[in-house]
Amino acid sequence: MKNIIIFGSTGSIGKSALEVIARFPEEFKVVGLTAGRNISLLASQIKQFRPVAVAVSDEKACSELKTYLSSHDLPNCPGLTCGTKGLISIAEMQNADMVISAIVGSAGLLPTIAAIRAGKTIALANKEALVMAGDIVMSCVKQHNATLLPVDSEHSAIFQCIRGHKMNSIKKIILTASGGSVMEKTVEELENITPEDALKHPNWNMGKKITIDSATLMNKGLEVIEAHYLFEMSPDKIDVLIHTQSIIHSIVEFNDGSYIAQLSRADMKGPIAYALSYPERLQDVMEPIEWERLSGLTFQRPDINTFPCLSLAYSALRAGGTLPAVLNASNEIAVAAFLNGSINFNKISVIIEKVMDSHYLQPATEIEVILEADRWAREKAREELIRC
Ligand code: NAD
Ligand code: MG
Repeated sequence: MKNIIIFGSTGSIGKSALEVIARFPEEFKVVGLTAGRNISLLASQIKQFRPVAVAVSDEKACSELKTYLSSHDLPNCPGLTCGTKGLISIAEMQNADMVISAIVGSAGLLPTIAAIRAGKTIALANKEALVMAGDIVMSCVKQHNATLLPVDSEHSAIFQCIRGHKMNSIKKIILTASGGSVMEKTVEELENITPEDALKHPNWNMGKKITIDSATLMNKGLEVIEAHYLFEMSPDKIDVLIHTQSIIHSIVEFNDGSYIAQLSRADMKGPIAYALSYPERLQDVMEPIEWERLSGLTFQRPDINTFPCLSLAYSALRAGGTLPAVLNASNEIAVAAFLNGSINFNKISVIIEKVMDSHYLQPATEIEVILEADRWAREKAREELIRC
């Protein structure tokens, strides 16, 4: 039996993780849940899974949850905490074996590091933590003997493909990208797309931020950085191909000219279950592929002129230091501005590039330096928004 904590239990990954856990009650027990603002959903998860500790994002959410529980005749939650401190205390829970890190954005960084420092096994969905502070996170993993297992489907695919192989036998890794919702549009057409258009992802049902990141190709850029840290691959050994069917989740090219790819339906329960049960596999997690109904598997190069975010991410990775954290923070601000209708789609990359260009890069050896770069980039991005 593995005792599990879920950070971000009310999100798309959190809900899928709970679906998997609910199907295998002999294997997993939920001991901790954390969420942001969706109090009614969190309350129903508390009722179903009976965690011993719960954390929410702030005081307001905390008192809302208490009121909700008492007004719905639900038992009070014993270990209820809030804010970053609350999340960190949950990460350090003695009886927890595994933490599913599925908060969206930079808010996931400190709780993830706390779980690593507590020596837990981390199933990592929160790619932003690795983008912001990859060197620190990975050295923390080594220092505290923690285990980091990827949940992102591409990285789970690579992780599955390289099992049993020596890292020096790998020539390249190829991350596949669905292309998102607006792949066929021209720059001119992208000027006028609405958040609703961009949120219609063809294959995956995900949170809003990652869905927009998929449309801009920033998601793939963040994943290139994530792959660099997880697999110790230099940027020139990480390639990206658009594969609109989302059947091949990534590919490893070996020195001898062989390729190994991982295939399944586009269902996050697959990579989540793989991380939960690693090194075993659970029974019938995903529907089988109906091979004869597949019309074909296609691949094409990403259009970096129309979608410059991917190149910005490669530049940030190559420059290193605080620049990936700046890329991430300015992206979070720009995506939120697009979602609330303040800027058009093409301005997302413009703002990120402006903030990156005006950043005075520093070595990212301390978490405080990264948090300061994150804070600076948010402020700078907000200034750029006003100029837009
Ligand atoms: P989501 O928006 O659906 O859910 C985010 C969760 O984080 C929610 O539970 C929310 O309450 C919580 N949260 C947000 N801000 C918080 C804060 N300040 N404090 C505490 N909790 C907070 O997002 P998602 O799509 O589930 O993505 C989560 C992470 O997983 C992201 O980093 C994303 O890139 C990654 N990921 C998601 C998918 C997917 O299919 N959804 C696939 C691969 C990777
Ligand atoms: Mg992914």
